[in-house]
Amino acid sequence: MSSTLDRSAVQSSLNVWQMAQRQLDDIASIIGLDASIHAYLREPKRALIVSVPVRMDSGAIKVFEGYRVQHNMARGPAKGGIRFHPDVTIDEVKALAMWMTWKCALVNIPFGGAKGGVICDAKNMSMQELENLTRRFTSEISIIIGPEKDIPAPDVYTTPQIMAWIMDTFSMQKGYSIPGVVTGKPIAIGGSLGRDKATARGCLYVVQEAMKELGLSDGARVAIQGFGNAGLNAAELMLEAGYKIVAVSDSRGGVANTDGLDVQKIVAHKAETGSVVGFSGGEQISNKDVLEYDCDVLIPAALEKVITAENAPRIKAKIIAEAANGPTMPEADEILQERGIMVLPDILANAGGVTVSYFEWVQDLQENFWEEQTVNDRLRIIMVRAFRETLERAKKYNVNMRRGAYAVAVGRVAEATSLRGVYP
Ligand code: GLU
Repeated sequence: MSSTLDRSAVQSSLNVWQMAQRQLDDIASIIGLDASIHAYLREPKRALIVSVPVRMDSGAIKVFEGYRVQHNMARGPAKGGIRFHPDVTIDEVKALAMWMTWKCALVNIPFGGAKGGVICDAKNMSMQELENLTRRFTSEISIIIGPEKDIPAPDVYTTPQIMAWIMDTFSMQKGYSIPGVVTGKPIAIGGSLGRDKATARGCLYVVQEAMKELGLSDGARVAIQGFGNAGLNAAELMLEAGYKIVAVSDSRGGVANTDGLDVQKIVAHKAETGSVVGFSGGEQISNKDVLEYDCDVLIPAALEKVITAENAPRIKAKIIAEAANGPTMPEADEILQERGIMVLPDILANAGGVTVSYFEWVQDLQENFWEEQTVNDRLRIIMVRAFRETLERAKKYNVNMRRGAYAVAVGRVAEATSLRGVYP
């Protein structure tokens, strides 16, 4: 067995938390990170495990397990979404919290990183059950969240309505309205215009920069894995920007058409049937096939660890823009780099969401709300700057874009940590 195979065999067994730590270790040696700061940043600052009793529609009480992890607060209050999914684990939430620290540092907004999660099958719960779960979970984590401490937001299977319940539950405890405790809220209660599409819009902006950098012309073919908030909005915005959407998928399967899919009709089909599967305007393919579909830009917009050493050699895209968090395994990264595929890492490609969350928080604190155009213009400035800084650092160290982004982000967090002197 060759040493390459040995290495991938070992790395494939990494769980997502080990993968996140590996990415930090990797950049630490490249930038020569101080050993004590490295040790400090390798672990979360704080992790809360809560038990959440919920009255279900049947009348029975079911107990769910939930987490809120704060990885780092050196640059400001912790920030990050809450995920409702059956596969949530404490290790996954730790990884996602660490990635939030780097993401906020890369786009240079004054936040640290956090993440929350509840192990539950949100897709098969009623609105009443979801409300009961959200309110009790919020109450349990209310001891560590707040506008100056830690600000949750949406993530996989959590919605603006869920954010509204979080805001209301927290406000009820304090006795007055505190919209700044959570972002991604509905507009009527202090949400920001443009927040719903911000992750996808930020992704579009960095793809446009990458296309320019690689000398690729507009009208590129795009394949998107995942059709939730990030994937669906990316399909719509990229179509509007002149790209051709050739394949999309959700957890049940995918649909593809080399001539381009009718995105509006797929959105309508999904709204009606709950899935893109069965849409008549293209051939049916599997969720995994979408990753290997013939395209110029691939957007993984679902869950972690989908691009592996096994499928990386067959990926046809020239650019991969990670709208999901953690979709690429470290060994796949090496293969993609060798093959000359530019990977726009998650902490860059999906940072539009948290950037507009920052705008929402600022608007809430100032009680002064912006036009959507202002939100989008400011988002573009931040995304383009982050892309340029990433590229510049990647060139300086002669590394890929993930390492370039990590060099900028980890460098910023290390500087703040060292100035404050909060590490041992
Ligand atoms: N869940 C999103 C992310 O992973 C948004 C987080 C936020 O807006 O705080 O970046």
